[in-house]
Amino acid sequence: MFQKILIANRGEIACRVIATARRMGIATVAVYSDADAGAQHVSLADEAVRIGPAPVAESYLMGEAIIAAALRAGAEAIHPGYGFLSENPGFVEAVEAAGLVFIGPPASAIRAMGLKDAAKRLMEGAGVPVVPGYHGEDQDSARLAREAAAIGYPVLIKARAGGGGKGMRLVETPADFPAALESAAREAQASFGDPACLIEKYITSPRHIEVQVFADAHGTTVHLFERDCSLQRRHQKVIEEAPAPGMTEEVRAAMTRAAVEAARAIGYRGAGTVEFIADGSGALRPDGFWFMEMNTRLQVEHPVSEAITGLDFVELQLRVAAGEPLPFAQDDLRIDGWAFEARLYAEDAARGFLPATGTLSHLSFPPATTFRRGPVRVDAGVCAGDAITPWYDPMIAKVIVHGPDRASALALLGQSLDATRIAGSTTNRAFLAALSRHPGVRAGCVDTGLIARDLDALTAPPPCPPEAMALAGIAALGLLDPAVGADPWDSVTGWRGWSVAQCFVTLDHGGDLRALTVDLLGHRRFRVSDGSETATLVLLDADDKAIRFETDGLIRTAHVAQGTEGLTVFLDGQPHGFHLVLPQGEAGHAHSGDAILAPMPGLVTRLHAAPAAEVVRGAPLLVLEAMKMEHVLTAPRDGRIAEVLVAEGEQVSDGALLVRFEAVDG
Ligand code: ADP
Repeated sequence: MFQKILIANRGEIACRVIATARRMGIATVAVYSDADAGAQHVSLADEAVRIGPAPVAESYLMGEAIIAAALRAGAEAIHPGYGFLSENPGFVEAVEAAGLVFIGPPASAIRAMGLKDAAKRLMEGAGVPVVPGYHGEDQDSARLAREAAAIGYPVLIKARAGGGGKGMRLVETPADFPAALESAAREAQASFGDPACLIEKYITSPRHIEVQVFADAHGTTVHLFERDCSLQRRHQKVIEEAPAPGMTEEVRAAMTRAAVEAARAIGYRGAGTVEFIADGSGALRPDGFWFMEMNTRLQVEHPVSEAITGLDFVELQLRVAAGEPLPFAQDDLRIDGWAFEARLYAEDAARGFLPATGTLSHLSFPPATTFRRGPVRVDAGVCAGDAITPWYDPMIAKVIVHGPDRASALALLGQSLDATRIAGSTTNRAFLAALSRHPGVRAGCVDTGLIARDLDALTAPPPCPPEAMALAGIAALGLLDPAVGADPWDSVTGWRGWSVAQCFVTLDHGGDLRALTVDLLGHRRFRVSDGSETATLVLLDADDKAIRFETDGLIRTAHVAQGTEGLTVFLDGQPHGFHLVLPQGEAGHAHSGDAILAPMPGLVTRLHAAPAAEVVRGAPLLVLEAMKMEHVLTAPRDGRIAEVLVAEGEQVSDGALLVRFEAVDG
């Protein structure tokens, strides 16, 4: 076995490989770009080598720099992870030429599967069913149009060099074909430097089912059953599971046999995945699935197969690469239970899944194992305080669950996502949780169009319940602390009404200003109202971790995270973010007459006010970051701004003049 390996990757997969290597007593070398100097994979590895600046083309794709790093650190082998250089046959050859071992298949096997058209021709020759279509060399557009007509519409145009759904076009009628072909070829040229396309019959109600294979250098090739990855958005996997729902022994036997034949046909070695498209319009059939492509590396979703087989695939990769035989035969393998994986991303589902960035001011997962089998496993490459940058894939973590059967595993997935709390960046957590509870998903009726059909319901932003608003108000006033509020007069700095103590606070909830009145009713009982909604609750327990409260005889749990971006209340798994708006009218010192003064020392993080601008009362003027919170300073009245005396990024002292309004005549 190797003494030391280098991991040519970043994020969760680099961390995951390091974990297994460590367990096996193998030293690890990480590589990092300037943007990743403080990243998790760097701190977890025994050694780390800088390979270049942030852009991937100058760092994680720099094969030569990575090989030089491995030689310099004395590593004997390179694990490529997924993505980056993992399926680059030239890199494999360079690694081997440098006298190092590539932990993956031979370059020839990667090359054989590298182009979709050549791979399909090869598979056809090996007797593996392929999607009916045209995958020839002739790229003349009239010829391709004739082939499309012969296949029968609808057809799918695919870039032969494609990946990640790029260069793919669904064409419903012959009239649309020429334009679709032109745009697919253009995208293929731009993305892969190769405009060539193939044409496939479009399978309606398609299911994506893939088979995990493993081969050693001693002639053994096995499969480790299938995964269903049909829950996709724009051809990208969202939630994966193993085994596939509705799979029969007959279909499994046919599909896994085809996968093993595919691997044997190209002299495969190591971990690989053979992807099939299956007709999901009815029950799965032994003649109703076709080869799509082979991924010659470890897949993102490999943990669901690890969960149902109890094996560590990275350990198997390392053993195979070191020349050991696979430690089992096909007949030794069994499926145990059911597993799901959800891919948690920093992205805004409600806004077309735009990638999001931000610093993860709060990040906590349910009790879970990391990189090991368990009922709940979380594979993450970031921790609280880390930034999601625009440089790399915005994945935060993979949440993997394992249960005795599909229904219990799926329920556990929903619960685990609800118990995942992230503040500081928009994420797809709520979308994933909603998807895990979708009736079609629960029934196992998954196909690649499910998400698109129900997108609006799956991405609808959840309303902010009055209890979340109430807890935000209580937290903002510093009344969460159990020592506070037993006697309302103890702590109150606000108003004294006739019979109750009252405090006032204004919160900004997504641009919506809520002026809250918090009545302290004694014995930790609070009534919070924004004028239209009221919540009355009793705080039972509050510590750093959880807040238990009672409303109407119902005991519930919430969490509050306070960070620079404001205050986040997590209720029923859903984060509700608030900013504190300083009560300028009451406080008196935030503005005096026409001057907006800094109510405390802080950093100006955002400036909305501009000289000569007309503003209305309540309009945000600037954001001041102080005491780990952002405070939005708003206009105390309608008027015109005379002068702005600060700039973004400026540190200001208490009482400093920030913005001056033009005086109102008379
Ligand atoms: P890429 O390599 O770009 O990811 P794939 O060939 O793996 O492309 O296909 C990605 C996804 O597109 C599949 O998982 C499936 O959802 C859909 N797809 C691919 N081929 C077909 C087809 N012939 N009919 C219907 N859907 C397809």
